[in-house]
Amino acid sequence: METKSKKPKEEQKDVAIESKEVKHTDGQQYKLQAKNVDVFYGDFQAIEDITLDIVPNSVTAFIGPSGCGKSTFLRLFNRMNDYIDNFDMNGKILLDGQNIYSPSVRVEELRKTVGMVFQKPNPFPKSIFDNVAYGLQIQGITDQDFIEERVIESLKQATLYSEVKDDLNKQALALSGGQQQRLCIARALAVKPSVLLMDEPTSALDPISTGKIEDLIHELQKKFTIVIVTHNMQQAGRISKKTAFLYMGRLIEYGDTQKIFTNPEKERTQNYITGRFG
Ligand code: ADP
Ligand code: MG
Repeated sequence: METKSKKPKEEQKDVAIESKEVKHTDGQQYKLQAKNVDVFYGDFQAIEDITLDIVPNSVTAFIGPSGCGKSTFLRLFNRMNDYIDNFDMNGKILLDGQNIYSPSVRVEELRKTVGMVFQKPNPFPKSIFDNVAYGLQIQGITDQDFIEERVIESLKQATLYSEVKDDLNKQALALSGGQQQRLCIARALAVKPSVLLMDEPTSALDPISTGKIEDLIHELQKKFTIVIVTHNMQQAGRISKKTAFLYMGRLIEYGDTQKIFTNPEKERTQNYITGRFG
């Protein structure tokens, strides 16, 4: 809920607005916020005027038909769209109240705080250990005891350690798909992020591996803010607290997952969740 400020425009300094608006009515801070965000790829508008707040230590799901802008929107939160040639945007994305697109933000620092896991597990063709240690090594950390401790801690957090502990030097590509995806999660966790973005992280996995990742996400939300794109509505229903339904670049409805799936406000949401299109 945002309250419109009655102050004249010239008094609405950025910082004042941000520190005022990050508060919930109950005083809880939002972890991530999108404010009137438009995204363009050249002339094509992929996201249109989306405003949405994400609470910390929770799972938020983005759902909607293929091509509606879920990945584009997700990638805004760690500036992954910056790599795309004809990408342009309006609006703000706030992390802990700070605009991550402001010139003072260092993108490498941002990506340490906001980690990402992709649809297809993408381990490097290196050992299990080296995959998880990678983020620490590129930070220039050389203390081997520290690195080893952090690698083990991250593998444990990703519920992979018990399966690989006897051979951390094994080639990561020799792991199963589900194990590779948990390895990628461990790799993301090793640099101690506070947000994890996941773009359809289980869509390439079998049901058992999917279940393990869902259980893991459920655990991780105690310590991390998780935003997940999913094609699978049952999955959104099982693991998320809040769900955002996007359609053709617009946010149609956003609210408690329970409500979105049982009693949505909008007819378009109802049609989508009952499988009438998508
Ligand atoms: P979703 O993840 O919901 O399937 P995307 O965010 O991938 O949707 O894409 C949203 C829209 O933006 C689609 O119409 C897609 O074709 C278009 N799009 C995505 N990436 C690019 C790009 N790099 N250049 C041009 N158009 C793109
Ligand atoms: Mg996508």
